[in-house]
Amino acid sequence: MFPIEEYHQASNVADAIQALSKDATARILAGGTDVLVRLHGGNSDYGRVVDINDLDELREIRMDEKGNITIGALACCSDIIENELVQKHLPMVAESLATIGGPQVRNCATMGGNICNGAVSADSACAALVYEFDLVVEGVGGQRIESINGFHTGPGRTILKQGDILTSFLVRPENYTGFSACYRKYAMRGAMDIATIGCGVALQMAGEKITTMKLAFTVAAPTPIRCRNAEQVMVGEVFSEENLEIMADELEKDVAPRTSWRASKEFRLHIIKTLAKKEIRRAVKSQGVAQ
Ligand SMILES: Cc1cc2nc3c(=O)[nH]c(=O)nc-3n(C[C@H](O)[C@H](O)[C@H](O)COP(=O)(O)OP(=O)(O)OC[C@H]3O[C@@H](n4cnc5c(N)ncnc54)[C@H](O)[C@@H]3O)c2cc1C
Repeated sequence: MFPIEEYHQASNVADAIQALSKDATARILAGGTDVLVRLHGGNSDYGRVVDINDLDELREIRMDEKGNITIGALACCSDIIENELVQKHLPMVAESLATIGGPQVRNCATMGGNICNGAVSADSACAALVYEFDLVVEGVGGQRIESINGFHTGPGRTILKQGDILTSFLVRPENYTGFSACYRKYAMRGAMDIATIGCGVALQMAGEKITTMKLAFTVAAPTPIRCRNAEQVMVGEVFSEENLEIMADELEKDVAPRTSWRASKEFRLHIIKTLAKKEIRRAVKSQGVAQ
């Protein structure tokens, strides 16, 4: 069984915030696929939990009259993947969540937990970066909106403070309308494996010219990142293989891969460049532009 020292079942968001603020070591329990696994692995830091699974209002996925899409922080990956709004407007969110673990994990794991866990390999992080997610956070000071840019502060770390709870993700229409977006995860196994490198691209085109491009990576630096230097090479230019090669060289200014047991930094850099070129080509193709 799980060595849980202190367990509180939150009855609403305010109650969760109060329980978290009262106990500096308490952790939010959402799908539990990180928290319970660490606890089971003997990590006692996770022994005092505030369970938010009764807060069904945090599972909602909806669009308002202005086209803003809200994805509840407690919505599980499977529900998000199967959601019609997501499939229609944010297909890359579904594509990236479908690479997480296996079906059982996706039936429990939440995108909220995937982002708030602060993992540099989080498969939903590239989608959050290229669709420019806003994060709706409730805390002792009330509600605030945080940008995904700068949300991750280091491996396993985010800007969230004790007592903070992410309630939902907000995606504004200007950040998804007319975009082609795609995600590719390079991992040693085809499933049930953590990313060696994850790459996400979103772009808009006018004729053969790329008018907007957002390029993001996981495991290419101490946090998930946007690659602004590489993006600049492609924006405003007609798509070409020559420009892709220049972009790939420019990427070296954006990334700082490291060597780990999964891969050397040289191999990671090679994968980073290769995936960036592949995913940009794929996004350009789905804009209907011949290559
Ligand atoms: C077998 C297995 C395979 C996996 N494969 C992958 C994979 O391929 N890719 C991948 O990215 N991950 C993978 N994971 C990790 C994990 O499934 C994901 O990170 C998942 O999305 C975490 O969500 P959760 O709801 O289970 O989070 P939990 O375990 O409940 O919480 C994770 C962390 O986030 C915090 N948290 C959760 N919700 C909130 C909130 N609303 N507000 C503030 N803080 C919050 C918790 O306090 C905790 O620190 C795998 C895990 C397992 C067990």
